[in-house]
Parts: sequence; structure tokens; C-alpha cells
Amino acid sequence: MNKKIIIIGSGVSGLVAGSYARMNGFETEIFEQHNLPGGLCTTWKRKDYLIDGCIHWLFGSAPGTTLHRFWEELGAIEGTEFVFHEELTRIETGTFDNKKTFIIHRDADKLSAHMKELAPEDSEEIDYLIGMRKRLSTVDMTFEKPMALMGMKDFQHIMKSMKPIWKDYKALKKLSLNDYSQRFKSPHLRDGIRRILDIPEFSAFAMILLLSCLYNKTAGFPVGGSLNFIQKVEKQYRERGGKIHYSSRVDSIIVKKNRAVGIKLTDGTEHFADIVISAADGYSTIFKMLKGRYINHSIKKYYKSMPLFKPFFYLSLGINRDFSAEPHMSVHLTQKPFELEGFTCDHFGFKHYCFDPTLAPKGKSVVEILYSSDYNWWLKLKNDKKSYTAAKKKIADTLIGELEKLYPGITKDIEVIDTATPLTFERYTGNREGSYEGWLLTPKTMGLTMKKTLPGLKNFYMAGQWVHPGGGLSLVMKGSRDLIWQICHKEGKEFRTRPPDGFEQAGPSKAVRNLP
Ligand SMILES: Cc1cc2nc3c(=O)[nH]c(=O)nc-3n(C[C@H](O)[C@H](O)[C@H](O)COP(=O)(O)OP(=O)(O)OC[C@H]3O[C@@H](n4cnc5c(N)ncnc54)[C@H](O)[C@@H]3O)c2cc1C
Repeated sequence: MNKKIIIIGSGVSGLVAGSYARMNGFETEIFEQHNLPGGLCTTWKRKDYLIDGCIHWLFGSAPGTTLHRFWEELGAIEGTEFVFHEELTRIETGTFDNKKTFIIHRDADKLSAHMKELAPEDSEEIDYLIGMRKRLSTVDMTFEKPMALMGMKDFQHIMKSMKPIWKDYKALKKLSLNDYSQRFKSPHLRDGIRRILDIPEFSAFAMILLLSCLYNKTAGFPVGGSLNFIQKVEKQYRERGGKIHYSSRVDSIIVKKNRAVGIKLTDGTEHFADIVISAADGYSTIFKMLKGRYINHSIKKYYKSMPLFKPFFYLSLGINRDFSAEPHMSVHLTQKPFELEGFTCDHFGFKHYCFDPTLAPKGKSVVEILYSSDYNWWLKLKNDKKSYTAAKKKIADTLIGELEKLYPGITKDIEVIDTATPLTFERYTGNREGSYEGWLLTPKTMGLTMKKTLPGLKNFYMAGQWVHPGGGLSLVMKGSRDLIWQICHKEGKEFRTRPPDGFEQAGPSKAVRNLP
């Protein structure tokens, strides 16, 4: 008889685990607290506008890469058109009265020429950066097998394929973007590089890797948006007979004799299986659903002191104005500093989505302004609805005020104002402090391998962004694929990436939508 797996959460990691588990003949049931799949990978409708809350770039968007093949296995790619931008972003650097615009061109040679024009004194460092970006784009860093199941031959293969970039990795692995920016003499380039993601502690190597994926067009935006993209994965999972229960919040994991045997929902019902995978928030899984009974020193340390991707304050606007002639993403210095959440800010980032005609009616635009927010600042307002609503409005008004200075008259064209705070992200997805990618990718966490099991607990695994520092859709997708492969290995099964013959006739099953 086939073993049964219960999966908590239908974010990308839960759906991917479910999908590969079905391909390998396991019975599967996913329990999701929300009434939709996707978790953080989502979009929402406001009047005529579809607001995208996730994908800026999806690694594996282009054929020829291993990640692309994995997305194909999951049914995510077929019929999906991707947009590849010619610019990552434009960043104003320096001061408002003495500013320059640093354009991060996709094309490496164009970027090189532009940087040298901005800072001829940094030519040598620019050549090194561009060379590295080109070298990185020649290497496919996703490997078929899970690391845990690799033998000597596999490691030799990895060493060989990584050879062109090994020196670069060694030179940069200990540097944050802030450290790396110091290698440039020009204050404009220093400023621009530090602020590419507005996370100065972010790993410099990871940033250059992102640039190289943009350069060789392997990280694009799926037309139709994030929810549409992930719904394809959900559809294939269900067509292959996978079950999914929405509006079903897991309260606890049922453990008997240190073995996970099932889950209890908040409505009191219990469900049993041979294996339980939590693809939900790590802290809630370990310290709430399992009451902190299965931890060790490393786990305590991670949850006490490892930095997180700070959550966003996310302002989305539906605007009756066509922005398609404007750069899709830009960071602007403001004439005067302005106040947000009690701190002063002298710049703001702006993005429009006119490159995807499905998100707004013709001639109109979806615009997004976001910044790294302070979870604890919002937490203080959690139980005071009036102050919370007033704070959201005040910040939205401030940011719209700045946008008005950039695009005079814009305020009267705004048809939709939508705000999401760290508490919104926390409430909708359960992620700790509303973090959008889990553990921050710093020089210290880069390459850190976290265990997907908990000490002393059998038949239980974790998937998703809380066991893969850096998070992101492709990394957690690969992590869930690896996990099912490891479970197959343990069960003495050969890992399959398609269902067994005749298997597809079993579906499609209907999603079970419990009312909240
Ligand atoms: C604004 C934004 C931009 C981003 N941009 C990108 C990008 O450009 N590229 C990229 O690759 N990644 C991006 N990401 C990150 C990416 O979306 C996440 O890393 C990824 O979606 C995490 O997937 P996950 O399955 O691990 O977690 P989640 O998506 O958080 O899924 C967890 C699921 O578990 C459910 N759950 C939680 N608790 C319970 C419970 N008790 N019972 C039942 N269900 C529960 C949640 O509702 C959720 O559906 C972005 C994220 C955001 C928010």
C-alpha cells in the first residue's frame, strides 16, 4: 500500500512537495489556512487592477537551465510567457542637488560602458565585475540530485562545473554589498551598489549571481502574475490526484512515541498519515505546532539571532495614467528627507507593471512603492485598529506626496490605494515577522545547510524558506524536490519526475474548500 504524506501549507514549497510526492506514488493531502494556493506567491484584485505581491524575477524562466526543466516537470511553465527587462533598475545616487543615475543594464557591455562613464576612475574594478558577471552566467548552479545523496563522483562533477567561477566565489563570499561597494572609488557607484536591493548586508556574491541571471535572461517575470503562475502548479498537483484542503489551519502536529503521525486543525479535527511535512513558517512549526519539544542548540541559535529579510510596507496604486514609457523600476532621491515609521528617509523606490498588459486596463497602470519596514513598530499598533489604520493612511499619503513631486498631477489619477504592512504578510501567510523570504542571505548564511528534520522526531520533515537561507521560489522549489527524493531514497524507491504509467487517469480531484 502507498504511504500517505500530510503537508502543511500550500505555498510553493508545499505544492512542489505534494506534486513530486504524487509523481512518486504517495497519497497526499495538503492543509492550507488560506482559501487560495501560493502563500507569499500571490496577486490580488482591486477594482480593475491586479496587484502582484511577489515575483520580480523567477530563476529558471528560460529553457536550457536545470531549474527551467524542474518548473516544466511541475507544469508551471507551459504556456507561460516571460518578460525579460533590459534594465534591472535605475538608482539615483549622491544628493538631490548633485545626483547621477546609475542604470543597471541587463547587457553586460552596456553596463560596463555606462559605469565607466559614471566613474572612469573605477575602470579596473568595473572590468572585474563585468567579467565575473559573464563568467557566472556560463555556469548552471542547480544540480539534479540532492546534496545529501551525492557521492564522490557527483562532487567531482560539481567541482569541475564550478571551476570557471571558483576564484570569484572565494574572493566575494565573505563580502556584503556594503563591503563590496567600498572597492569602488566613486561615491556614486558605492552608493548605487549598496542600494541595489536596499539591503546593504546582503551577500555580494548572491547579488552578482542575480545580475548574471538577468544578463543571460534566465530570470524573468511571468505574464499573468504570481498567483496565475503558482495556480498552474496547484492544477497539475490536483490533476494528478493530490488533495488539498483550504481554510484549514493546522493547530498542532500529533506525535506518538516521538513519531509524527498526523495533524490537528484549529476546528478540532484530526488527520493521520505516515509522514508529515511542514511547509509553513519555521518558528510556528517548531515552537507552536510542536511546542518546542524537538530542538537543539543550533535551532535555538537560528531562531534567536539569525537575521531575517525585513518585511515590507507595500503600497500599491491603480492609476489612470500610462507609465509604459517610463523605466519599470527606479529609486529616487527626494529634495527633503521625509518621515516613515519614526525614521527619516531621503529616497524611495518605484515600480510599475505596464510590461504585463493583464494587470491593468489599457492606458492605466499598477504602481508599487515598497520599503523595508520595522515589524516591531507595527506590532505596537496591532491591537489598536484606529491607530493602525491611521498609520497606514499617513504613510500612504506621504509616499503619494513624494510621487506627486515626481509626476505632478498624479494624485488625481489614482483610482486604487492598497497597503500591506508586515502584519498583513504575517496574517495571510503565517511567516514570522511578516518576512518575505525567511533568513537573510548574508556572507555568513550563504551556503549554510539547515537540516530538514528535527532532533528526536521521526517521520517528520520541514520544507520551504525556513530551511533554505535566502528563500525565493526556485530555491525552495528545488529544496522540496530534493526532500521528496530523499524520502523516496529512505523508502527504497527510485525517484521519478513523472507519474507512473496510467497514474494520470486517477485525477483530477477537486480542491476541498472549507468555509472559514
Ligand atoms: C513582495 C515579495 C517579493 C518577492 N519576490 C520574489 C522574487 O522576485 N523571486 C523569488 O524567487 N521569490 C520572491 N519572493 C519570495 C518568495 O515568494 C518566497 O520565498 C516563497 O514564496 C516562499 O514559499 P514557501 O512555500 O516557503 O512559504 P509561503 O509562501 O509562506 O507558504 C507557506 C504556506 O503555509 C501556510 N500556512 C502557514 N501556517 C499554516 C498553518 N498553521 N496551517 C495551514 N497552513 C499554514 C500559509 O498560509 C502559506 O500558504 C518574494 C516575496 C514577496 C512577499
